[in-house]
Amino acid sequence: MTRPRVGVSACLLGQAVRYDGDSRPHAWICDVLPGFVEIVPFCPETGAGLGVPRPAVHLVKDGGTVRLLGVSNSELDVTMVLKQWIRQQEPLLQKLDALVFKARSPSCGLDSTPLYDRNGVLLSARASGIYADWVRRRFPAMLLSDDVELESERQQKDFLRRLGVHGV
Ligand code: SF4
Repeated sequence: MTRPRVGVSACLLGQAVRYDGDSRPHAWICDVLPGFVEIVPFCPETGAGLGVPRPAVHLVKDGGTVRLLGVSNSELDVTMVLKQWIRQQEPLLQKLDALVFKARSPSCGLDSTPLYDRNGVLLSARASGIYADWVRRRFPAMLLSDDVELESERQQKDFLRRLGVHGV
């Protein structure tokens, strides 16, 4: 029987793809989830060629649009390079059953990412990263979660049941 295919932020799988060369391995995602599903790692920022290490970026509301700008250098704008990578993801997304994002990331966060204005004032702590936001708008029926929503055993079992994995 074909197993569900789940895209997972690569840093949650222990891959050293964060801006600082670190990772954020999540025990259940690394050790348990692969026993039930096929894991498809992704990292928007390294996928877009930003490299490791790289300058930290954050979400900035700029007029009517949201941009990914450098934290220490607001002249650094990687919005377009990320959006180019995102446009190439559609064929892969059509083959996935779910995604698990890294919370609070300016690329991957799902209703958990800080959004600032041009002066560094926090506008919201519950924005979405530009990739997660695009996935939700383009694939509204896709099952989406993040590492924070998969902390408890009840949440983990519920996620698997929603994927059609039985006997958990
Ligand atoms: S949060 Fe997303 S963009 Fe950032 S390192 Fe993890 S996978 Fe890459």
